[in-house]
Amino acid sequence: MSSRSSPDPPDPALAGSLLGLALGDALGFAVEALDPPEAARYAAGLTAGPLDSSAIRARHPYRAGQYSDDTQQARELLRSIADCGQWQAAAFAARLAALFAAGHDVGAGPGTRGAALRLHAGVSLADAAAPADYAGNGAAMRAAPLGLLFGGERLLAVASEQARITHRHPACAAGAAAIALAARLLASADADPAAIPARVAAYVRPLDRDTASALLEVTALLPLEPGKASARLVRLGLDPLAPREYSGVTAHVLPSVCWALYAALRHADAWPRAVATAIAAGGDTDTTGAMAGAMVGARIGAAALPPAARAVHDRGSWGHDALLQLAAMLRPA
Ligand SMILES: [Mg+2]
Repeated sequence: MSSRSSPDPPDPALAGSLLGLALGDALGFAVEALDPPEAARYAAGLTAGPLDSSAIRARHPYRAGQYSDDTQQARELLRSIADCGQWQAAAFAARLAALFAAGHDVGAGPGTRGAALRLHAGVSLADAAAPADYAGNGAAMRAAPLGLLFGGERLLAVASEQARITHRHPACAAGAAAIALAARLLASADADPAAIPARVAAYVRPLDRDTASALLEVTALLPLEPGKASARLVRLGLDPLAPREYSGVTAHVLPSVCWALYAALRHADAWPRAVATAIAAGGDTDTTGAMAGAMVGARIGAAALPPAARAVHDRGSWGHDALLQLAAMLRPA
């Protein structure tokens, strides 16, 4: 890939992945960590009619359409690549540190926050990441657009390196690579969604065998209705720290990546249904919504996203048009 300053329109898949991520994040952020039945009621409303800005619930103290750290991190990742004309770990780390040091992050988890603040305090790039026993989804939530900029071994390397800045656990790098490759495969017209879990599992196996095994389970989830699929996902016990009482998909990288992939592949050509499915299970809904929204957004392209995509923002700035302009600065190889 390369960066550029020309006013050409953005690549539709790249723009779709970024805006789809932002809208899925903004929709899910409204019900993050609420009881799953409440998330399910809200999600049902997202497919009841045209998905315009009136469908987005506000979350105090923010205006409706506010996206959270998932999109903020994806945005800063892409800005770092646009700045440098290529992937550079130090450039992304600097942007991440600045975002958190300024207190501008919205709803971030402890892994990314801790790493970003350590980077800001001068801890080296190699040492700032969260400890290896923490496997949150912070690196996967921001990774989808990378799949539209890089391919093959280069994508695997960039997805891993950006993950390693904040998360040391190998599942975090593998989860990020899985989401990025799935976005890439979904954007290619000839990809069969049902074949994607096996392809993604094989791709990330060198990074983490447990992640590969979990991704293979998504093939078996796909024919199941969401209620049965989420129950089966819980029984897999992918998050060792999950509460005994089900309260939604946790922020552990494995269940959240698998659930987002299930939702995206089950409704690969129907963005509102994919994101509603991701959110309806409850839990870490901003991130499952963001990941599913980014993957399906890559497939359908920015112009086919619901009208609500015009309403996303970060405290009144970095909205729809600015995100499109950012995507236009980047050109897939
Ligand atoms: Mg978030």
